[in-house]
Amino acid sequence: MMKTKKPCLDSFGRVGIPRNLRPILGEADESGKIEVSVTAVGDKLIIERVAPQCILCSSENDLVEFKDTNICKSCIEKIKNM
Ligand SMILES: [Zn+2]
Repeated sequence: MMKTKKPCLDSFGRVGIPRNLRPILGEADESGKIEVSVTAVGDKLIIERVAPQCILCSSENDLVEFKDTNICKSCIEKIKNM
């Protein structure tokens, strides 16, 4: 288990992940972002990487970003053929 003693929660509730711990979450996407989920367990918060998924079918493959969401190419084709 890796820990840091640096305070990293600001008055707006934003959390800064210390540089030495960031590799645990993996590489950022093309936009420089890493999508995460935060789960409260007792008095602890667990931050986990969330793999981008299609908003319609939850597929993680062939995603296209559209208005801050992801849609897979298969769903796009299905919508086109409606
Ligand atoms: Zn889909």
